[in-house]
Amino acid sequence: MSRDNLPHVPLLINGEFVQSKSTEWREVVNPATQERLARVPMATADEVAAAIASAQAAFKTWRKTPIGQRARIFLKLQQLIRDNIKSLAATLTAEQGKTLADAEGDVFRGLEVVEHAANIGSLQMGERAHNVAGGVDTYTLLQPLGVCAGITPFNFPAMIPLWMFPMAIATGNTFVLKPSEQDPLVTMRLVELALEAGVPPGVLNVVHGGEHVVNALCDHPDVKAISFVGSTRVGTHVYERASLAGKRVQCMMGAKNHAIVLPDAHKEQTLNALAGAAFGAAGQRCMAVSVAVLVGEARKWVPDLVARAKKLSVGAGDSASTDVGPLISCAARERVEALIARGVEDGAQLELDGRIPSLPGALKEGNFVGPTIFSGVRPGMSVYEQEIFGPVLCIVEAETMDEAIAITNANPNGNGTAIFTQSGAAARKFEEEIEVGQVGINVPIPVPVPLFSFTGSRGSKLGDLGPYGKQVVLFYTQTKTVTARWFEDDVSTGVNTTIALK
Ligand code: NAD
Repeated sequence: MSRDNLPHVPLLINGEFVQSKSTEWREVVNPATQERLARVPMATADEVAAAIASAQAAFKTWRKTPIGQRARIFLKLQQLIRDNIKSLAATLTAEQGKTLADAEGDVFRGLEVVEHAANIGSLQMGERAHNVAGGVDTYTLLQPLGVCAGITPFNFPAMIPLWMFPMAIATGNTFVLKPSEQDPLVTMRLVELALEAGVPPGVLNVVHGGEHVVNALCDHPDVKAISFVGSTRVGTHVYERASLAGKRVQCMMGAKNHAIVLPDAHKEQTLNALAGAAFGAAGQRCMAVSVAVLVGEARKWVPDLVARAKKLSVGAGDSASTDVGPLISCAARERVEALIARGVEDGAQLELDGRIPSLPGALKEGNFVGPTIFSGVRPGMSVYEQEIFGPVLCIVEAETMDEAIAITNANPNGNGTAIFTQSGAAARKFEEEIEVGQVGINVPIPVPVPLFSFTGSRGSKLGDLGPYGKQVVLFYTQTKTVTARWFEDDVSTGVNTTIALK
């Protein structure tokens, strides 16, 4: 506790929650009320080094821990998360702002990864071929890398840490997590549950901080792989810096997700889907729909969409009637408001203005922006070019589906997209031709379940392999190929001076 009774968020090093000796701290704040919840340290260089050293030491035994023993920890962790889901969601809502129902969804989507981690052994099996040459067999081992690190964003403080450490640890690695400094409390609660489930000392460590801590993780020779999720600016820096230091890196970054609406789409369901995906979580999802491309006659649906958006209730996430919570910080609110003003200056039509929603009492100080809709948006305008990361939907018009696909493919981002149509042929053409990593067909936010992997592409991703699912097993392991011959007798085959196996 500090002098003002705010709890201090601890670091986790070698199985112990310890207080940082840092002189630099920032506050964790409830974005609906500005109530201060805790202080989080910017860890010192020595603390980051100690966390990495602890993970490095633990790797020696953890890598040899039997698969079943590792799996049982995640079986236990999934039950602990299930038992605590309500209180985890309440912590998440208090520090992040999203509604309680959505916070439960955030925890649940991470829980699904924990369930998958409990069964990862079957995906970590190698391949084997007998008699690749006379009496020679070849087989592969998928071995853990060593110390892996994860750097996570503010917008999914439960799900995204759970994309990372369960999969890395279940495949035999040890881990250093650097959560978002804006909302680390629910992440720390999940880490406590992981220890309770049996993760041994040193296998999972946590450091807090910003640029300096992230750079230290990128530079340290004992860190073998970095998983990053966050903005394109920071992700590009992390990718370049950690790659230069010889590490494996995967960076999932910013987005501008286009939903294409064909005139044959089911109108009611499509408008509901657009409003939910554009304004849910106050637009602070990397898979939020931020651009709707209305094709042909669907261009006439704008007034109905505006009417639907107006019905959404803006307020604190812990109120059952709220649909749209606050933005994460005052700075985020100011940025979103400035971009809305810029949209007007650039000539887009402001159909619905969510700035300065009228809210009662304690919420007057909150970082609220209500649903906002622009029509007549064109490439080149700031509201189109930038990721707004707020409850702002840009409407772009297209004459044909081909034109809508061309607009989407010309955008540098490739995280998510969706098409709304009742035509199977149109949907098939779309999935074939669209250059975006995650495609929804009448599904507005197509985040894959963990049997698959998260597969954003183009400007939204750096690195080949995505988080969770089969791809991350390859990311967190090194394939070793063994070629073996066992001689049955003592007969010499002579010296072989060729490359061929004989
Ligand atoms: P951010 O890039 O500001 O922060 C991400 C992490 O990087 C945090 O842990 C932060 O402490 C750290 N960081 C911040 N500045 C840094 C710097 N200068 N150097 C090194 N590290 C730094 O992102 P955010 O605002 O927390 O999250 C929102 C962004 O994340 C959006 O762009 C969103 O699209 C993206 N995101 C992407 C995905 C995806 O899967 N593609 C998922 C969620 C969020």
